[in-house]
Amino acid sequence: MTDIGRPIEMLLVEDNEADIRLTEIALKHAKLANVLNVARDGEEALDYLRGQGKFAGAVRPDLVLLDLNLPKMNGAEVLKAIRDHKDLQSIPVVILTTSDADKDIYESYELHANCYITKPVDLKKFMGVVEMIEDFWVRVASLPPRD
Ligand SMILES: [Mg+2]
Repeated sequence: MTDIGRPIEMLLVEDNEADIRLTEIALKHAKLANVLNVARDGEEALDYLRGQGKFAGAVRPDLVLLDLNLPKMNGAEVLKAIRDHKDLQSIPVVILTTSDADKDIYESYELHANCYITKPVDLKKFMGVVEMIEDFWVRVASLPPRD
């Protein structure tokens, strides 16, 4: 499990306010301290990850939760940019999207997503999935160490 002596930094890239709110609520029940940062479109996500613009000085996330259908730059483009960036490419990326299309699943893994999850429509199930993501990536798996 990951114990880095500080809260886990997560970046949620999501344009749907209801999903952002539900994710925040679900993560409040998390067993380990976490900080949820939010980017609302693809360009914001890359600014955040690169610590640019209004996100200057932002902490590099330990885990990214990435929607696919996003304004300005879609999730696949964001994922490709993360994997093409030497300092960002090791960050685990969980695709969390309404799409269950084979093409999106295949393309995401081809771009080296760490896992692909189709959001349940049911609110309680959605929150349960967010809790499972936190449980797995933070408590079961080891996240990449930082320098
Ligand atoms: Mg969306």
